Amino acid sequence: MNLIGNAHNYMHLVKRWRELGRKVGLRIRKFATMDGLPCYELSSKRDISECQLYLSAGIHGDEPAGTEGLYAWANKNCKILSRVPVIIYPCLNPWGLLENSRFTLEGKDLNRQWDKGEDVSIAEIIQKTMGAQFSLAVNLHEDYDAHGIYLYEPPTVKKRDNLASQILESGSEYITIDSRKKIEGRWARKGIIRPAPSSLPKEGLPEGAFLQECRAERTFVFETPSELDLQVRVQAQVAMLDHAVTKLLL
Ligand SMILES: [Zn+2]
Repeated sequence: MNLIGNAHNYMHLVKRWRELGRKVGLRIRKFATMDGLPCYELSSKRDISECQLYLSAGIHGDEPAGTEGLYAWANKNCKILSRVPVIIYPCLNPWGLLENSRFTLEGKDLNRQWDKGEDVSIAEIIQKTMGAQFSLAVNLHEDYDAHGIYLYEPPTVKKRDNLASQILESGSEYITIDSRKKIEGRWARKGIIRPAPSSLPKEGLPEGAFLQECRAERTFVFETPSELDLQVRVQAQVAMLDHAVTKLLL
């Protein structure tokens, strides 16, 4: 399969997830229509309160190593998916993926809407995950002017260990860690950004902050530099996710 040529083909992505879901026993459900396109969710046949793992990608359509990385990780970890109760959103902005756009057709950034619930897809996820307490939530992202891999970890996490550094260490087998002191206008330390609650974007709440606030014990937002080779970015995303899941869920 030519990964590069297909990375923005939304229906091809859905087809692969459908096959994977069937293979590992995950339910696939169309949960909303966004910009005329169906949005899908995959989940274990368990109550949401038992779900341990929340994974999502493609909320920004110009970040294909997120959607491809999530699929590649899942395809490599079928055993985990048939055992660990999970909920997966393979692509939260289908129109954006097709058009290589961060935004929706209306020009909205869906990663700034999690305190509003105006968009059908986000509102549906907020509702669906009510009562959930995930052990781990991960959002896979990319950044076009990153100098390497980096991640966000909410500073509200009580248990401070070196998991964030270990995750980046795993990814650094493929892409070096962004060592800048300031990334995206925020203070960073060895590729880790822990934004203070007071410094959250004024435009609206991001998905990761929402999850950490009321749905998950640990949340990470992974970022790969989208100027590098797609295959390598996918490998870095897979390595980071592998590490987080292994440490927290196995
Ligand atoms: Zn993003």
